[in-house]
Amino acid sequence: MIVDAVASALICLDPGHGTPPAVGRQTEPIGPGSRVYKIKDGGGASGEAAVALAIAKKTRALLLRRGYRVAMTRTGPVFRYGTGGNVARAQFCNRRHAALMLRIHADGSTDASRHGMATLYPSYHRGWTDDIFSRSLRAARLVQRAAVAGTGAANNGLGGRSDLTGFNWANVPAILVETGFMTNPSERRRLQSSSYQWKIARGFTAGVAAFTPPR
Ligand SMILES: [Zn+2]
Repeated sequence: MIVDAVASALICLDPGHGTPPAVGRQTEPIGPGSRVYKIKDGGGASGEAAVALAIAKKTRALLLRRGYRVAMTRTGPVFRYGTGGNVARAQFCNRRHAALMLRIHADGSTDASRHGMATLYPSYHRGWTDDIFSRSLRAARLVQRAAVAGTGAANNGLGGRSDLTGFNWANVPAILVETGFMTNPSERRRLQSSSYQWKIARGFTAGVAAFTPPR
């Protein structure tokens, strides 16, 4: 009997927020050795944590069907791994040698007319993100393109970020999708609907498949 020793690619899904407030208010360094500290979890936009989790679960189902392995930083409303911050989220994905860390969020704005989807990737920082920069940017392009195509959401493009703890501690390619604005009434309704969540999940799955095959 021949056993296939090559494990399939693991996708690490990180639905944002859900940190207990007492832990979320603590701070942590934004990168290894940094003296700049940032809050672990500001809580996100109203309703965001539940939307991120629902999208993550649907994405997990589709990725498993395609033959990927999937790990999720939380599978319920509360994020409890490690020290409970974005360092812990990155370490969760690092330890599993993920082919991609896909962070799922939704945006908020004081301007209720703002809507659409954007994907963030780690800016180049020697010692922190030099090892994952180009692969993360490539993943961001592919996932943003597929998710916009799958949903018809306005394309707010890509953004490089040097200040995100969850990127600076990642040793695996990492991106963060702002799936839409919770503060835009019609986009909020869509984000909270199962049918639109499935559209996003299908877009994510197509984007992941373009980035890395299941094995
Ligand atoms: Zn968020």
